[in-house]
Amino acid sequence: MLEYLLRLTGVIRGFSPAKSFTTYVIPAAIAGLAAGSIMAAEARAEEVNLYSSRQPFLMQPLLQAFTAESGIKVNMVYMKKGMLERLRSEGRNSPADLILAADIGNLHNHDKAGLLQAVTSPTLDSNIPAQYRHPKGHWFGLTLRARVIYASKTRVRPGEVSRYEDLAAPAMKGRVCIRSGKHVYNVSLLASIVVAQGMDGAKAWAKGLKANLARKPQGNDRAQVKAVYQGECDVAVGNTYYMGKMATNEKDPEQKKWAKSVNIIFPNQQDRGTHVNISGAAVTKSARNKANAIRLIEYLSSDAAQKIYAERNFEYPVKAGVALHPLVASWGKFKADKAHLAKVAQERTRASKLMDRVSFNN
Ligand code: FE
Repeated sequence: MLEYLLRLTGVIRGFSPAKSFTTYVIPAAIAGLAAGSIMAAEARAEEVNLYSSRQPFLMQPLLQAFTAESGIKVNMVYMKKGMLERLRSEGRNSPADLILAADIGNLHNHDKAGLLQAVTSPTLDSNIPAQYRHPKGHWFGLTLRARVIYASKTRVRPGEVSRYEDLAAPAMKGRVCIRSGKHVYNVSLLASIVVAQGMDGAKAWAKGLKANLARKPQGNDRAQVKAVYQGECDVAVGNTYYMGKMATNEKDPEQKKWAKSVNIIFPNQQDRGTHVNISGAAVTKSARNKANAIRLIEYLSSDAAQKIYAERNFEYPVKAGVALHPLVASWGKFKADKAHLAKVAQERTRASKLMDRVSFNN
């Protein structure tokens, strides 16, 4: 089963988007009438339907707090994969009011498919820096993650690697590990390089990086750190929060050793800054509870929610002035690439083709 239901509060009943939206609302309304209270039935109808590719452990406390504060029930369906296909096949009848997804690539792909709608919210405009939200409100960043270089503490000298460009230079021959070039995280990173240096610069980088790989692209971000730990390579590329997840991993304590073996290097601090991506939210075109969907996104951008949201997954809050998890704070301050993510998103198609053209994964 791709998804399962989260029972967020005692009053939440089963919600299956495979059935129609009304299968849930009608019984609730009848129950209210039977209890002799039309008001109660109306109050109970305040809800919002969320498709989330963000994990239940992360969302559950936030959604519970939102319901407690607003009285709006959240029916969340977790789907690790296949959200876009699902929304597309459900079309106008989709019960989803909003989605949560990681990486600008995923949000942008939903937008390109015409599945999202514009939202206007002064609250979101003030809480979220412009570069991390769509200019017309089609998507909003809610947490930030930097795509950094992990460098072996023993085999990489201080200052030896300080820019993404260094990963493609001859000195790194046979020393670099990275996941698939076609993965959404790496396509976004390459798209940011297209924005910074144009297609020629990006192509030279992708080619140089491929030439330096210690092994064929494989595994996830954590697997690259493991490979550095095991001596297969000296530097790797990955998202910041995985360092937190590895360093505190009680289920698989071996990962603590992987994390300990590397330093985090925030690339390009002397020039354009480090590529920072988002996880975010968007209101679907099919939304029937649009106002509630906006309220939920606004809540997730609030100080209280931002702290929990970012901390729990070792990410950075998108809203300025919110405290970081101490471990995240220990990695130090850094300068983020100022390129608007909408602009980066526009270059993703070309970046993806570029990965193929340099046969990055072969
Ligand atoms: Fe991830």
